[in-house]
Amino acid sequence: MNVGIVTVGNELLSGETENTNASWLATQLTDRGVSVGRITVVPDEVATIADTVDWFTNRFDATIVTGGLGGTPDDLTMAAVAETFEQPLVPNERARENVTAAIRSYQAENSDAAISIDIESEASIPKGARVLLNEPGLSPGCVLESVYVLPGIPSEMRSMFASVAHEFSGERRTRTVYTTDPESQLIETLEAVTDSFAVSVGCYPDDAAGHNRLTLTGTNSAELTDAVAWLSERVELTSDSHQ
Ligand code: ATP
Repeated sequence: MNVGIVTVGNELLSGETENTNASWLATQLTDRGVSVGRITVVPDEVATIADTVDWFTNRFDATIVTGGLGGTPDDLTMAAVAETFEQPLVPNERARENVTAAIRSYQAENSDAAISIDIESEASIPKGARVLLNEPGLSPGCVLESVYVLPGIPSEMRSMFASVAHEFSGERRTRTVYTTDPESQLIETLEAVTDSFAVSVGCYPDDAAGHNRLTLTGTNSAELTDAVAWLSERVELTSDSHQ
């Protein structure tokens, strides 16, 4: 399975907020054997979000979009995804109940504080989408065809992803090995291992640790094992881990 991630928010582009949603999701997907084909950040603009989601849906088995849900003027993701699929936004009954309950519970804890939330708009998702309730928060997410729309708030995004995580799986495996051999001496060997086996290789120098980390990635476990064995005969490896 090959998945793309679209993160929405001007605050991500300005550097104000670190894009931890993208790296967290990429780790979760990689751990499930899924290939992450692209991660992008887009501003809070309906047309840009809609175009980007369209581009992703044409290339990936699934697209995960985070951020820009809810009722503030910069929350445009649902409208954009609805535009991508040429569907209207319609209130969802389960989302409406969930949003209403969340508001009641907030008011009970905060001495009936006045809240001006447009419940209909908050509970609206594109027509035909499957709603994803936001148990720890307010704004619902949804799944429309291959697009998963999740909240931007990291704790809410993680909780909602957990409810659909079983829908993501793949055969991609990685083996990580370490060597103190300098990178300049590894070039030919690394080229040869990718020529000889169905694996791709990454070489990541880590000066602080005093070694190079080598990752071998592929979808065939036997090929990966053979590639590591082949490498260990040519490069001094210090340790090895599976993923
Ligand atoms: P709300 O339900 O409050 O409207 P939302 O789903 O619309 O939330 P945003 O308004 O985009 O999400 O962002 C809410 C908070 O989550 C902000 O503090 C924002 O910086 C943070 N956030 C959004 N996207 C990311 C991201 N990719 N990585 C880390 N934090 C993020």
